[in-house]
Amino acid sequence: MPDDREQRYDPATIEPKWQARWAADPSLYAVEPPSCGKPKYYVLEMLPYPSGQLHMGHVRNYSIGDALARHMWMRGYNVMHPMGWDAFGLPAENAALKNHVPPREWTLSNIAGMKRQFNRLGMAFDWATEVTTCLPDYYRWNQWFFLRMYERGLAYRKKSKVNWCPECATVLANEQVIDGRCWRHEDTIVEQRDLVQWFLRITAYAQELLEGLDKLDGWPEKVRTMQRNWIGRSEGTEVDFFLAEGHDKTEKRIRVFTTRVDTIFGATSVQLAPQHALVADFTAVNPALKAQVDELLDQQKKAREAGDLGAIEKHGVPTGHFAINPYNGARVPIWIANYILADYGTGAIMSVPAHDERDFEFAVKYGLPIQQVITPEDKSMSVVLPFFSEDGLLCNSGEYDGLSCTQAQKALQEVAARGAFGEAKVTYRLKDWGVSRQRYWGTPIPMLYCETDGLVPVPDDQLPVLLPEQIEITQQGGSPLARDAAFVNAICPKCGGPAKRETDTMDTFVDSSWYFYRYTDAKNSTAPFDSAVANYWFPIDQYIGGVEHAILHLIYSRFWTKVMRDLGLIANDEPVRRLFTQGMVIKDGAKMSKSKGNVVSPDDMIARYGADAARAYSLFAAPPDRDLDWQEDGVAGVSRFLARVWRLTTKYAPVARTGRGIPIEGPTGAALKLLRKLHQTIAKITLDFEARWHFNTDVAAIMEFVNELQAADAQLASGEIPAPVVSALLRNLVLLLAPFAPHLVAELWEELGETGSILRAPWPQSDPELAREDELEIPVQINGKLVTVVGVSVDADAKTIEAAALADEKIQARIAGKTVVKIIVVPRKLVNLVVK
Ligand SMILES: [Zn+2]
Ligand SMILES: [Zn+2]
Repeated sequence: MPDDREQRYDPATIEPKWQARWAADPSLYAVEPPSCGKPKYYVLEMLPYPSGQLHMGHVRNYSIGDALARHMWMRGYNVMHPMGWDAFGLPAENAALKNHVPPREWTLSNIAGMKRQFNRLGMAFDWATEVTTCLPDYYRWNQWFFLRMYERGLAYRKKSKVNWCPECATVLANEQVIDGRCWRHEDTIVEQRDLVQWFLRITAYAQELLEGLDKLDGWPEKVRTMQRNWIGRSEGTEVDFFLAEGHDKTEKRIRVFTTRVDTIFGATSVQLAPQHALVADFTAVNPALKAQVDELLDQQKKAREAGDLGAIEKHGVPTGHFAINPYNGARVPIWIANYILADYGTGAIMSVPAHDERDFEFAVKYGLPIQQVITPEDKSMSVVLPFFSEDGLLCNSGEYDGLSCTQAQKALQEVAARGAFGEAKVTYRLKDWGVSRQRYWGTPIPMLYCETDGLVPVPDDQLPVLLPEQIEITQQGGSPLARDAAFVNAICPKCGGPAKRETDTMDTFVDSSWYFYRYTDAKNSTAPFDSAVANYWFPIDQYIGGVEHAILHLIYSRFWTKVMRDLGLIANDEPVRRLFTQGMVIKDGAKMSKSKGNVVSPDDMIARYGADAARAYSLFAAPPDRDLDWQEDGVAGVSRFLARVWRLTTKYAPVARTGRGIPIEGPTGAALKLLRKLHQTIAKITLDFEARWHFNTDVAAIMEFVNELQAADAQLASGEIPAPVVSALLRNLVLLLAPFAPHLVAELWEELGETGSILRAPWPQSDPELAREDELEIPVQINGKLVTVVGVSVDADAKTIEAAALADEKIQARIAGKTVVKIIVVPRKLVNLVVK
């Protein structure tokens, strides 16, 4: 008599039961010491911002990593799968403004809530190594790193134009400005302000960051391309034009950067950015020019704010001054143009209209001369200006005529170096990382300003510089910390006199730049982490997160790793061996997000269908690298499938238990057929974990296998399928589902008479002999129309297949009395008869 248990799959009972058991066993998800002798595997999903609620986008991200971690445990690896909180940042301050809850309280209570959600989803995280970046035991090491960088000249202060988000009321890094808008406020135009700021010298590693990308072959190509473009290396030459006053050149120089010094004889003007230092000299004595320059500045500002600097309508004004080409003494007019950027290259260019599209457009507009200096090697080719090829020869270039472009570049660079008016130069688009934020909820920058000693770093033994807890937060008037006298006023460690603290805090991307090292040794109170432990775990074997971090977190953390290596803390050059960027979760045509109001809460899904169904659905509904279109029907469908697994397994568990551990001998018939399907499914899923990550088709393959089991219900019920085979079928079904539906499998594992955690059970191995199909079904067509299928051996050759097709009764009936003109055989696939 079937009891209730066999009939009803009840995740609401099973799931909390197992969560409680797992929570009671801290060793379950804990790492083992390196001496365990197992190979290590570090799998990591990007840590969440504790906004208060997980949504299904999170569930998808973490379900991918969790499935992989579980699989690797079963493969016998020493797995590290930690979790933490990217807990500093503006939303906590905004919430404080709105609800009058202190940011710390708000953040910690959100963390508690999200941790509950993670546990309710059954995620296999080792909470013993939890990292919370807003707590002093973590951020003191941000300060420590900052001081080490300061000592090495990698952290410095300068006044510069910075990106200012009026909505955030703080400075943003270049990486946080997307199309001229704030990365957090897509409707807010970023302004430019002059401020004294702290910078980290990421440009010191520009070349290494670029070259390292070639070795990151476990990263998506699109991410590598984005980083290459962001670093933006260009090789060229810096050359000084001399300022001409009257007929003589002065010693004043205008340094220009060009990638095409071979075209310098074609330069017909020099163009300055409106902010160029020389422009101020010119306008100081020329109010009319000043007014024109102000207009150019205004146009540039508007274009920058519109995020479309590249498409700016080009305007320029002549200064009335001239510059002298150092190679041929030619006098060319100096212009000021709105499309020349002060922060790119030297803020000045030579304009060569014959060989540059932008220069050509400008010259035509303002009637500047156009002088061709490169000609195609093939003399018969007609030339239309502008002509940009680098496969040409120089002409109209004096002694350099006839040289190839590359030869000329080299020769001209040498001449410039000898004459001390220029040099070969590599420039990068990458700028130093501005890390000062005029906000409260971040790591205090550990610096003091003393009246006597100037800038003084906080000594290591005074770390952490604690973030005061009671503080009034407003969005006006600079850093909130500046209004806290108890924080600001300090004692100078050098002279004992009064000093004032730096009141800017660090960009939150500092926190995430090295958090994954802290996981390896999260409780260390004397160092950020133990080097030996980090060296065992790094690099991360698999990192999983959103592509939106390609030029933010993923470039900052590479930089931080290189700095830590140079500090002697770690041995690896790169933090992450393999990177996976998952697709978004879409609902009603838009990315699932709080601001769009289309968030599906995992709590609701768990209440209705269970955590296993929600997790398995998020893997099943789309390939992990593609966007997933959220359909609640789909979750219901997966839930029904899990219920089928439940019924089937509990029904035959008693038989399986009697066959447990008994070797299978010479299976035949239905038993053989089911075992074949099983081993094919094992092979497919194993391969997917190793390479393809098509988890959506894995869940589908398990569904197919379950369909076959159900179709064999009569043979299972009658005992035709021997107990050892039943045991193998059900045991492996449960093992295969283990990465995807952890609660269900834990319960069924026990049901099958197994003891111990399924996470420590070896992953099933596919037997290639059993997996091999011995017969294939080949469709046979007549004149392109399917008539029948014939069974042939898998390794049948074309002749055998043809014979089998012609011997088929249906085919014989159709071709009787007709002429077979042609027989096309595609081995293993198809036979087509052309009949008249
Ligand atoms: Zn903003
Ligand atoms: Zn002092």
